[in-house]
Amino acid sequence: MTSGPVGIPTPSTASRPVEHIGTIAGIREAVAAARARGERIGFVPTMGFLHEGHLRLVDDAARRAGCVVMSIFVNPTQFGPTEDFSRYPRDLGGDASKARSRGVDFLFVPEVAEMYPTPPALHVTADDLATRWEGAVRPGHFGGVLTVVAKLFNIVAPDVAIFGRKDFQQAALIRRMVRELNFPIDLVVAPTVRESDGLALSSRNTYLDAPARASALGLVESLRAAERAFAAGEHEGERLTAIGLESLAARPEIKVDYFAVVDPTDMRAVGQAASDSVAIVAARVGATRLIDNMILGEGT
Ligand code: AMP
Repeated sequence: MTSGPVGIPTPSTASRPVEHIGTIAGIREAVAAARARGERIGFVPTMGFLHEGHLRLVDDAARRAGCVVMSIFVNPTQFGPTEDFSRYPRDLGGDASKARSRGVDFLFVPEVAEMYPTPPALHVTADDLATRWEGAVRPGHFGGVLTVVAKLFNIVAPDVAIFGRKDFQQAALIRRMVRELNFPIDLVVAPTVRESDGLALSSRNTYLDAPARASALGLVESLRAAERAFAAGEHEGERLTAIGLESLAARPEIKVDYFAVVDPTDMRAVGQAASDSVAIVAARVGATRLIDNMILGEGT
């Protein structure tokens, strides 16, 4: 059942209101009607507190599909017990207005009880691809992500789904899931949107005060240091990793979880880097945990 258009002023650019739907039956009905009109369905799953990175995914979806669905769901099962689930930033009114201004047709905003009416007894898990890097630091995280994305794919049944490269390992896992579980969905992974100084946009950047915001630049600086060294001819994976870690060491206030140069498909650390190898980094700036990555050959 739809709850109707969100009650906030319509920006002059909007041609029609975005519908805010809280139930699985409601979004299925809306998508079925769009499909019956002959429209392709594009899907952008998010946890909300939207920024330009999310909105570029919407632009991409709108280029590929006549009907764009965005989900906003802060999924409890992908947060560890000591992580920021309860304080994760939320702004549904602002999100609805941004989504509308960029052409989202349906916002699927389920409550936790709609997605998990009973404690889940089944999970989508992955082998070692899910246990490296982010998976090692955040045990169970990718099981939560894959399970909720599989549920959302089954609920929305999109033709195309757009994810951000910002969450590189997540995108690699979802690509595997789509292939191995035969979801009939085209997967698009879009480039990372950054601030003008290079900081990757993230909903969690809102946690950063001015000094932490300055320190957070250490992540992209470390990636650029590795990228520059690669462009200058250094292809030894261990050496590139050392260069990234040296760059991070210049900011002792940053606590590094990992820096690595990996293969984009299996996420294993590479011996010899190639232009599609990816430098990945995760670090804590005060209480805020941030991740970023860069394809080494991207800038060249
Ligand atoms: P989140 O709301 O953080 O779960 O992110 C929802 C989607 O937006 C995921 O596919 C992210 O990879 C993507 N995303 C987050 N930040 C960015 C960014 N800075 N640039 C591009 N995509 C992003």
